[in-house]
Amino acid sequence: MSKAYDRIEWDFLKSMLKKVGFSDWWIYLIIQSVSTVFYSILHGEYELGPIIPTRGIRQVDPLSPYLFIICAESLTALINNYERKHWLHGIKVCRRALVISHMLFADDVYFYCKADVQEAFKVLQLLEIYEAASGQQAKSLVAEGVRWRVGSGVNINILNQPWLPDDHHPYVSTVSQTLENKCVNSLMKIGIKEWDLDIIKDVFNNRDQKLISDIDLQESGDKDMLYWKHENSGLYSVKSAYRWIKFNKGRWCIEDKTSIWAKLWSIKALPKTLNMIKRVQIEALCPVCHVDSETILHSLVTCEFAQRCWDILGIDIQCFKLTDFVDWLTEVLSTCNLKKQAECITLCWALWRARNDLVWNQRSSTVNRTVAAVKQYLTQWSLSQGKSSSMASLQPIVKGDGAETWVKPNPHSVKVSVDAAVFDDKEAVGFGLVARDSDNNLIQARTRIHNRHTIPVLAESMAIKEALSWIDEM
Ligand SMILES: [Zn+2]
Repeated sequence: MSKAYDRIEWDFLKSMLKKVGFSDWWIYLIIQSVSTVFYSILHGEYELGPIIPTRGIRQVDPLSPYLFIICAESLTALINNYERKHWLHGIKVCRRALVISHMLFADDVYFYCKADVQEAFKVLQLLEIYEAASGQQAKSLVAEGVRWRVGSGVNINILNQPWLPDDHHPYVSTVSQTLENKCVNSLMKIGIKEWDLDIIKDVFNNRDQKLISDIDLQESGDKDMLYWKHENSGLYSVKSAYRWIKFNKGRWCIEDKTSIWAKLWSIKALPKTLNMIKRVQIEALCPVCHVDSETILHSLVTCEFAQRCWDILGIDIQCFKLTDFVDWLTEVLSTCNLKKQAECITLCWALWRARNDLVWNQRSSTVNRTVAAVKQYLTQWSLSQGKSSSMASLQPIVKGDGAETWVKPNPHSVKVSVDAAVFDDKEAVGFGLVARDSDNNLIQARTRIHNRHTIPVLAESMAIKEALSWIDEM
């Protein structure tokens, strides 16, 4: 149900509100509120718009989640109805436990049913009904992973069902009125199992023509069959679905990497300051100056408070393009030496921390204190680096000297490296964990301090235990 907010039809919302018992006056007010919204887009220095939506509920409005829940209630009602008719069977965690047929988490829906073709088909049908009624795209995991194997073709709708041998888009892309409500058997010769290539050439575009003629009708049986594409057997399994979700998440994680991040990681600055730059996403009025709306560029660069900090650091922000934060930072970094680069990154982090301190703890900072924090953190950081860098990074690797070097794991697997250190003076142990893939890409890293004194061997084993629970969380 992603993007569901933007897709709810107002008529559907109206009838749902009526169904759960709201008065006409109340419903009128709600519909007035959702239908009088308009949006503008800021592109560079230009404002584009207004964009007037014809459906969807207001973004950010605190009322919207409740309206959305009311609409989602109809999905629950539909599922319960299917259960009563014994079309769907949920699961039980033990005997005498409640039967669970579905779970809703914000805009995620999980269905539990018997892993057979009939029930998978019912889930699809149910989603189609809900989608048509609410205007939402209920494109679930099941819908994405199910394909038709063409047998007789009488059960497969040409336009709306996934039957073409294309992994990413198994639907017909040709737009033609003659194909509406027709089934796949109408593309075959009468009496024999063979495609009618004349018809196919007449009606379909090149891409569809090729895909259809790739389907070998002699190979498949007489029955149209639904199968699950993520398992060789074609049968749906929770394991394969899970594996597939994991795979997609992993891919997303690895693709989230551009040259600027590669550069940032190569600068010696505190790791948490880098994480901050990756995560900042904000909106509304700036809590520091109360003058401009709060964007990343504003908070970290153009806000008066930030400008004064940059000034002390000796960076004239006006020398660079002030349209996009990442562009701005890229330019600034390209003009600085390594030491200055680290200062820039750390100032971004300190500004963000000052802003959070104000918003969450009502503690305001001064320009001088913010810049002082930058210097102080960098000094601490380089001191802590000094000890290990003299050993690790400055000495060239000598083969066969017995020192351990990183060896890449098998393709498509992830290697987690662990180390522990004992700080005698502070009576504490520290752990460092790094997860990398077989191409030596950094996936995640973590550090931890435990206030407890112990011997190195125990510290190492605590670190390994820490790594195991970390892997479990990932
Ligand atoms: Zn500001």
